[in-house]
Amino acid sequence: THSPVPVPDPAAGEAVKSADRAHVFHSWSAQGLIDPLPVAGGQGAYFWDYDGNRYLDFSSQLVNTNIGHQHPKVVAAIQEQAGRMCTMAPGFAIDVRSEAARLVAERTPGDLDKIFFTNGGAEAVENAVRMARLHTGRHKVMSAYRSYHGATAAAINLTGDPRRWASDTGTAGAVHFWGPHLYRSHFHAETEEQECERALAHLEETLAFEGPGTVAAIILETVVGTAGVLVPPPGYLAGVREICDRYGVVFILDEVMAGFGRTGEWFALDHYGVVPDLLTFAKGVNSGYVPLGGVAISAEIAADFDERPYPGGLTYSGHPLACASAVATIEAMAEEGIVEHAARIGETVLGPGLREIAERHPSVGEVRGMGVFWALELVRDKETREPLVPYNASGAANAPMAEFAAACKRGGLWPMTNMNRVHAVPACTVTEAEAKEGLAVLDEALAVADAHTTAGA
Ligand code: PMP
Repeated sequence: THSPVPVPDPAAGEAVKSADRAHVFHSWSAQGLIDPLPVAGGQGAYFWDYDGNRYLDFSSQLVNTNIGHQHPKVVAAIQEQAGRMCTMAPGFAIDVRSEAARLVAERTPGDLDKIFFTNGGAEAVENAVRMARLHTGRHKVMSAYRSYHGATAAAINLTGDPRRWASDTGTAGAVHFWGPHLYRSHFHAETEEQECERALAHLEETLAFEGPGTVAAIILETVVGTAGVLVPPPGYLAGVREICDRYGVVFILDEVMAGFGRTGEWFALDHYGVVPDLLTFAKGVNSGYVPLGGVAISAEIAADFDERPYPGGLTYSGHPLACASAVATIEAMAEEGIVEHAARIGETVLGPGLREIAERHPSVGEVRGMGVFWALELVRDKETREPLVPYNASGAANAPMAEFAAACKRGGLWPMTNMNRVHAVPACTVTEAEAKEGLAVLDEALAVADAHTTAGA
């Protein structure tokens, strides 16, 4: 049941756009070159503009609207909380904060039972790193190339993609290593077993050369998100856990994107049975209706701050509106079986559909994913695996991807593209019919990418 797209009002859309141009400074953008779409509203897996165009949101915004737009229970919970108590500082005990913490802790594995709330993912990573440094008395943190951990000081230094370059201070003790990714193996591996074994050996060797006594933490995305939905081979995360235990290194799993239903489990780590010492979350915890993130903390690390104060905090940590929306989101996801639904859509519609598409299109090199967390890797040539656009391409060099994205939009699908990849990441609540509609648009738009392959040229 989608509320109808309002009567088109292009003049209102133009007004919204020029007001935006006047004073809004946008993320990650050349301000003079961007052309933001004026958006009038959204419902479920869709949103719409002022010109009468409705888009199936195959990006879930920034992979955060796991429960879809405007879920009525979450909207009602925010309204109810706003009527009761809009703000209360983190030093006080309030009902929705403790209930949100309980609901998160109930779903995290092992003894990750204390929750430090933040306003989003990057702050969760900052605080996890701070906790690991204080707990170990060491300063370095190791993270993977092909990763994204946020845009604040420590988080951007740990990030393993080009967005780090301009902000890299080089002072935060960030050390990068290669994680497993068989399709573009750094280790010349030919099987998942080899990739896993060699990636673990590489990590342990990097640790040895850095000096284990200087390394506070290893941070990994359980399933790498922005850098291409990289699903780790069986045994990799358990192997990292083992290395961390051997050297007294804190293991941080970043579930900011992969958590809360995205992979068809509450947390991606549920697929692997691995328990980190710290787990970062955000996005899906309340689908981003109000900014919220956090760190789930092991009993051992939490106990470190029983006697000495934790030297970190945020004015809005555990904000009542954010916590009320998290409580409603988690309850709705549980009551409505949304996590199981996401798993089923992945197994029965998105996975098979994308694999079938890959066979038919010379531009699709690999399909990866689970649940409602998928990526197609586009190539110029299936044999050589040369990416469809060069690494970190922009402008004319990125034209094949830009043309592909434009074709999706003409077909009524809002895509998520990153470098040479197309991510298919709809809401966890996406219906079978909606998922099939999205696949049909991707299928048609891929003809544009095919034209740029060696087969199509
Ligand atoms: N970690 C991961 C794995 C993410 O995907 C993101 C956001 N894409 C972040 C951290 C940063 O979260 P935020 O943008 O809320 O600061």
